[in-house]
Amino acid sequence: MSVKDNIRKLKGELPSNVELVAVSKFHPAGAIMEAYEAGQRVFAESRPQELSAKAAVLPDDIEWHFIGHLQTNKLKLVLPHVSLVQSVDSMHLLEAIDTWSCNNNIVTNVLLECHIASEDTKQGFSPEEILSVLTSGTRYAGICFRGLMGMATNTYNADVIRSDFEKLIHLRNVLSPEIGKSPNLTTAFSVMSFGMSSDYRIAVEMGANMVRIGTGIFGEREYTIK
Ligand SMILES: *Cc1c(COP(=O)(O)O)cnc(C)c1O
Repeated sequence: MSVKDNIRKLKGELPSNVELVAVSKFHPAGAIMEAYEAGQRVFAESRPQELSAKAAVLPDDIEWHFIGHLQTNKLKLVLPHVSLVQSVDSMHLLEAIDTWSCNNNIVTNVLLECHIASEDTKQGFSPEEILSVLTSGTRYAGICFRGLMGMATNTYNADVIRSDFEKLIHLRNVLSPEIGKSPNLTTAFSVMSFGMSSDYRIAVEMGANMVRIGTGIFGEREYTIK
């Protein structure tokens, strides 16, 4: 199937409250344009240089998300272009984004990435750390906390995937009654970004309202070419 067919099929399948994020990392601008022509406007990249190069040549009404590990010396390549940083995975990065955003008079929308997988290579905060950031009185004037992001263990075992996603749902349920009681936890905090090509159906069934799909739209990534 073509990129356009994949977009149409996914849009037909996903409930209307679920935002489809097309993960275009390692795919050329031409592939992004095919998805764009099928009506897709939200795309995600994982490398700062690649994001800023694509943003410079592709249509202005594309909404870019950043989903990769972000080093603090790369913020200037990313923050001017994105509507959401989904992969805030440490206090160091959170504080650097806040400072950069304040200095440049912007407010950056972020998701806190929660470590839910059993592999310890995956980045992210623990649920306890997220709870403490969001309920602390510390004010981050350059940041708007929009929700949570997570990535399940890379496995075909649906029970393992479900129990990983369950950790995000549980955290959301603990946070929900706190909304409005801290400057970091307002009604803007509503995004639950989990589910990728191999597990988005489970994610949607469990209550994800944002899914990030790369391979299922663009096919396999060629890591050797840019
Ligand atoms: C690459 C990536 C995806 C998309 O993965 P696919 O399996 O190709 O759908 C989703 N989320 C994150 C954080 C990624 O890095």
